Amino acid sequence: MNEATRDAARGLQAPLQYLKGVGPQRAKLLSRLGLETIEDALFFVATRHEDRSRLIPFSQLTEGKAQTCSGTVVGISPPPPGRPRMPLAVTLRDSTGYLTAVWFNQPYRKDEFKRGQTLILHGRVARFRDGPLQMQHPEAEPVEEGEDETIHTGRLVPIYRLTEGLPQRWLRSLLWRVVEEYAGKVPESLPEALRRRRHLAALPEAVRAIHFPQTEEELAAARRRLVFDDFLLLQLGLAIRRQREGRERGLAMAPPGELGERLRLALPFRLTAAQERVWEEIRRDLAAPYPMNRLLQGDVGSGKTVVAVLAILTAVEAGYQAAVMAPTEILAEQHLWTLRQWLPPLGVPVELLTAAIKGRERQALLDGAASGELSCLVGTHALIQEGVEFRRLGLAVVDEQHRFGVVQRATLRRKGENPHVLVMTATPIPRTLALTLYGDLDVSVIDEMPPGRQPIVTVARSLGKRVQIYAFLHQQIKEGRQVYIVCPLVEESEATDLKAATEMAERLQREVFSDLKVGLLHGRMSLAEKEVVMGAFKDGQIHILVSTTVIEVGIDVPNVSVMLVEHAERFGLSQLHQLRGRVGRGPWKSYCLLLESGMLSAEARRRIEAMTETQDGFRIAEVDLELRGPGDFFGTRQSGLPEFRVADLLRDGRVLEEARQEAFALVASDPDLRHPEHRALRGALLARWRGKLDLASVG
Ligand code: ADP
Ligand code: MG
Repeated sequence: MNEATRDAARGLQAPLQYLKGVGPQRAKLLSRLGLETIEDALFFVATRHEDRSRLIPFSQLTEGKAQTCSGTVVGISPPPPGRPRMPLAVTLRDSTGYLTAVWFNQPYRKDEFKRGQTLILHGRVARFRDGPLQMQHPEAEPVEEGEDETIHTGRLVPIYRLTEGLPQRWLRSLLWRVVEEYAGKVPESLPEALRRRRHLAALPEAVRAIHFPQTEEELAAARRRLVFDDFLLLQLGLAIRRQREGRERGLAMAPPGELGERLRLALPFRLTAAQERVWEEIRRDLAAPYPMNRLLQGDVGSGKTVVAVLAILTAVEAGYQAAVMAPTEILAEQHLWTLRQWLPPLGVPVELLTAAIKGRERQALLDGAASGELSCLVGTHALIQEGVEFRRLGLAVVDEQHRFGVVQRATLRRKGENPHVLVMTATPIPRTLALTLYGDLDVSVIDEMPPGRQPIVTVARSLGKRVQIYAFLHQQIKEGRQVYIVCPLVEESEATDLKAATEMAERLQREVFSDLKVGLLHGRMSLAEKEVVMGAFKDGQIHILVSTTVIEVGIDVPNVSVMLVEHAERFGLSQLHQLRGRVGRGPWKSYCLLLESGMLSAEARRRIEAMTETQDGFRIAEVDLELRGPGDFFGTRQSGLPEFRVADLLRDGRVLEEARQEAFALVASDPDLRHPEHRALRGALLARWRGKLDLASVG
């Protein structure tokens, strides 16, 4: 080994396996936690810190709070034979009294404990009946007399996420060693002036203190620095990307606006002020000789569609074609229905292309796109990737549904003519998140509902209330309204007790609403079959439409006053909110009835509570994000965005704004990060985006 490679091996990229005391076995366990290299370990952030400089004496423990204390084991009682439901109980003593720690369903743990041993316990304290204080399922860590003890006691102690076979103490000792030896070698990535301006700790210092802080303040400062870095590197990448796209040439479309005027005349309503403002933003983008990259946000029912239609008409009038893309075929069909309402009456043809359309019909559509005769084509994202050729594609409307489409947008760009892109989100995203994930898009928000909308009465009911609910539906229909009933699945497997939409529709028709007409809509019907049912429903020939989630987005029948959701506990929160948005579109009072069955999980309970508490789409999105976590919420795995090491989108919004300002200022002053003082930052940026950022011009 020459000196250079030895140096490299000693660097932050060196595998943990070769550290003293690790070896292949433990290295495997570490890699389960995502820890392969020294650098991974340095940035492996504790889930929390425990203040073990202030252990609470048993006599001062208070009920109901999570606390940390320490004592000597004086008794171990496993569940008696034949009584597996009794807990394992370990009794401890300190100088002030006794405490019992109990674990249910873990009898095997009895061998972990020994009489005379000292434990540090962390958990919630409760008292049962008049008995002594108890801790249920506490975290328990044995104190071992030895040279390491200052790492594990008497200070703010990091508690790490573990994997089976990896003890907390061992991991903490390892990280102590890694931090001692390597934290000082982490290169500072931020320019001095920026660091001062934003009061940010130095990086090596932050890395040390995020693990082993002296004080809570030090820990908070360390965290702030690392969060800032996470956001800055994300925003820098987005800023660079956006700047590059902004420099590209695009199609300037500024027709007289005749089609748009004719649409407005045909509309039974006037646009709201918010719609007008947003449309003006889009109109200006379309007219400029750069590709538009805009996110259109607005709660369900706020009227995004008509704004998108204005954009489509502008492209068509300017002699271009428009593509409308949805994440699923069902959603694509729904867009087709909506667009069919507006475009063909103005002489603008619109067609649907999905994988299900084959043969001659497909060929005709492909020919129409290639010749330019077909002005508007609706499909899934595959529309663009499957080699559909447009003669002059000028606008792509992308319905994202939270699937962040960096990749798709890039593909679109490469289609040659640099079409304008309008991304619509069906569920609003809190502003901070929109900035984060769509930092390379301009954002337009429709923050006003069309006038005359009534609040929707939302209630949760158990299955036992079915009879009353059906009576209520009868009543509503007698008053001239219509009803949606949504079921989660169609033709379920026999193992489940789900009520299939088919069965439900038949039963309701036969037994409950024999005097009315019950219709059925589900995902396995052909487009033509669905159109027949939809048409009859719109005309009022069908009173109750039983459906699978196909009506989640897009269907628009203002006469409907009730949305009844079967098995509401099985739906996601934003889905429920979308479903609710299908009613309340007319002048009458509307209802969203959530029917729940059986025992609800805590999460399902929270979702239903959120629905009954608020109708504010932004608030709903926040709760949804809290429940699901950002990865799942945004589907970031497909997003092409770098992961955060420390930052939490929900907690750290303030830092995000700061980082965003700095990132855009940096790119404005030094677009390719070529100044010597930005060299370290450029390195960090490239490493973080791992090739997902096309930084050719950064070099
Ligand atoms: P979303 O933003 O959820 O896509 P839509 O575009 O489907 O909302 O609009 C919801 C309903 O409101 C539709 O029936 C639409 O025709 C109607 N609408 C849109 N804009 C207005 C307006 N300015 N005044 C009254 N109704 C409107
Ligand atoms: Mg819509």
